[in-house]
Parts: sequence; structure tokens; C-alpha cells
Amino acid sequence: MSAYDDDNIFAKILRGEMPCHRVYEDDHTLAFMDIMPRADGHFLVIPKAPVRNILDADDTVVANVYATVAKLSRVALKAFSADGVTIQQFNEPAGGQVVFHMHVHVIPRFDGVRLGPHTGDMADSAVLERNAEKLKSAL
Ligand code: 5GP
Repeated sequence: MSAYDDDNIFAKILRGEMPCHRVYEDDHTLAFMDIMPRADGHFLVIPKAPVRNILDADDTVVANVYATVAKLSRVALKAFSADGVTIQQFNEPAGGQVVFHMHVHVIPRFDGVRLGPHTGDMADSAVLERNAEKLKSAL
């Protein structure tokens, strides 16, 4: 497995060098909208610790990330009046990972609505901002 690379896009978001539509932040985690959402309201939760994925993260980092995932899943259900939530997390290229800073996908779901493609179309920035605001209002 390769070493953690400080130049990955999520490390740049954490350092404030790249913009994002921020949803939530605490001492250990940050949540922001996915720019290529698989469904309306799709966002990501990342640790602030520099870890590549679940394979090099220690248990505390995993626990912190998944505590935020659980908290924000309940928030997402409320914010979008969703019927369910899909949680996804990819590890290494063979596992489908594209960005090599650990992250968990939280995707609001509706009965009968299929999931869109992984890394499909880029969403309109205004739509991402509106959805981030909906999530923040439901916190
Ligand atoms: P994964 O590594 O989980 O397979 O895929 C990376 C995810 O990050 C994709 O869902 C993709 O849409 C998202 N993504 C890639 N680049 C950016 C970016 O610059 N900003 C944000 N907010 N999301 C990104």
C-alpha cells in the first residue's frame, strides 16, 4: 500500500487550499458535499488525521469518523425527509477508491429511486450549497 500523500484533494480541502460546501466540523472530522453526487444530498465525512483509508487508520480515527457518519445520517434523514441512507467507503484502487484520504459517503435514499453512478456528473454549485444549508439547518 502506498504512503499517505499530502497533496490529495481532501488534504487540500482540510488545509483550506480548495473550496468545499461544508456541512459539519468537529475536532476530529469534517463533512462536506460530494461534487459528483450519486443522489441529491450526497456528502462525505473525512477524518482530520492524515490517513489513506480504513486499512491504515487506527481504531480511534475509525470510531471518530463513524460517530460523525451516524450523527449526520440521522440529520440527513430529517433534512431531506429521506426513506433511508446508504453508507459507502472504498479502500485502495481495487476497492474502488479514487481519492486517497479516508472518507465515508453518506447518501440519502428514497423508496424506488435508484442510486446514480459513482463519480458521475458534477453537480451545480448552487444545488450543493442549498443541500449543505438544508443539512446544517437540521443539525
Ligand atoms: P472514492 O475515492 O470514494 O471512490 O471517490 C471519491 C469521491 O470524492 C467521489 O464521490 C467524488 O465525486 C468525490 N470528489 C472528488 N473530487 C472532489 C472534490 O474536489 N471535492 C468534493 N467535494 N468531492 C470530490
